[in-house]
Amino acid sequence: MGGQMELGISDRVAPLREKVSQMIENDILPLDGEYLAEVNKGDRWHHTERQIEILEGLKSKAKEQGLWNFWLTDSEKGFGLSTVEYAYLAEEMGKSLLGAEVFNCSAPDTGNMEVLERYGLEKHKQQWLKPLLDGKIRSAYLMTEPDVASSDATNVSMSCVRDGDDYILDGEKWWSSGAGDSRCKIYIVMVKTADDNAPKHQRHSMILVPADSTGIEILRPLQVYGLDDAPHGHMHIKFKNVRVPASNLLLGEGRGFEIAQGRLGPGRIHHCMRAIGQAELALELMCKRALNREAFGKPIAHLGANYDIIANARMEIEMARLLCLKAAWMMDKGDARAAAPWISQIKVIAPLTALKVIDEAVQIHGGAGVSQDTPLARMWQNVRTLRLADGPDAVHRMQVARSELRKFTQQKV
Ligand SMILES: Cc1cc2nc3c(=O)[nH]c(=O)nc-3n(C[C@H](O)[C@H](O)[C@H](O)COP(=O)(O)OP(=O)(O)OC[C@H]3O[C@@H](n4cnc5c(N)ncnc54)[C@H](O)[C@@H]3O)c2cc1C
Repeated sequence: MGGQMELGISDRVAPLREKVSQMIENDILPLDGEYLAEVNKGDRWHHTERQIEILEGLKSKAKEQGLWNFWLTDSEKGFGLSTVEYAYLAEEMGKSLLGAEVFNCSAPDTGNMEVLERYGLEKHKQQWLKPLLDGKIRSAYLMTEPDVASSDATNVSMSCVRDGDDYILDGEKWWSSGAGDSRCKIYIVMVKTADDNAPKHQRHSMILVPADSTGIEILRPLQVYGLDDAPHGHMHIKFKNVRVPASNLLLGEGRGFEIAQGRLGPGRIHHCMRAIGQAELALELMCKRALNREAFGKPIAHLGANYDIIANARMEIEMARLLCLKAAWMMDKGDARAAAPWISQIKVIAPLTALKVIDEAVQIHGGAGVSQDTPLARMWQNVRTLRLADGPDAVHRMQVARSELRKFTQQKV
């Protein structure tokens, strides 16, 4: 692959990174715990007054400093950052619970905004993209279904039938992240619009569905290891005779996979960048604890194999970061097909690396590591889901293996 590979921190992004990192350390991290504790104080699915105060206060501060919508890579509306440059900012944001939302860079909104920007009509942009870009509303992306193995997205079966000037949707979705949030106003939904006679990748479409449409019923919040992630939530949703204007169907019938390819690439790598930030934070906490607590007459750092654990964590984080930056650089070259196996590689490696480092940090902390007194338990739970969300490891490995095998055969692999 030709072209000089620039993976360093550019002059343009260095001052931004410094500002983001300062704001996370001084303003956001100190409020993460209080924000979480507030969830138990009222209706879990509506922000309390204090939560709104915390979030809106931080968002205003970020906006005032121009630290907003960094993810809009190569766009006139954003900073025009490259994916490599954005990686350094996303890594910092990953270190706190609220970081990504404070800078309007959180999942699933960034991916959804890209879809609206690229494929939405002007009226969709006014109604949904604008308030999303302003951080006024939130959104969800509904692909996965309870009744089919959704790691193979060609199985998606929610029915979507044309009826005059409308489409009518019926079926169930689950793991709809963010749909629990009362600010979530718009869903981007993957549906089936053609029967099995159509080519496999032309049977599906994406359609915009307002969250308050008649016939939508939130059946329940799903729990992740017993936690409901309120007020964001991962919802199980039923669609019964849900009617939306035909113009809400994006790009055209049968073009859902075309859109999904564009949407999922950036979203996946953003998750990886934040996971690396979490690994970095876990290593920092591990070192501080290991130096400051003594057992058997010595700081824990000096006991048993703990030097090796710390050294391995550093080496593995560096490897993961370099792979992530290379995948980002491949994306910046603009050939989505060539970048895809690189995104798959880091989509496997980043969560595995972060999980391992967080797990070792938990261990060094003893009982405190699994408690609410450090962010480690929540981080582990969050990163564990990344081995499933946006495609399980096995599916990404399959993509990587196929791209290797294709180098040596003309046949379909
Ligand atoms: C916290 C969380 C948030 C999520 N958020 C969203 C969201 O916002 N929107 C959304 O649409 N979905 C979301 N998902 C769903 C996620 O994308 C799916 O769970 C994932 O794609 C797998 O689909 P499935 O659960 O149907 O598993 P299945 O398709 O049933 O797969 C189960 C397992 O089968 C094995 N497998 C599958 N394919 C292969 C293969 N090729 N080779 C070897 N083994 C294989 C793997 O072990 C895999 O984990 C979220 C999931 C979680 C846990």
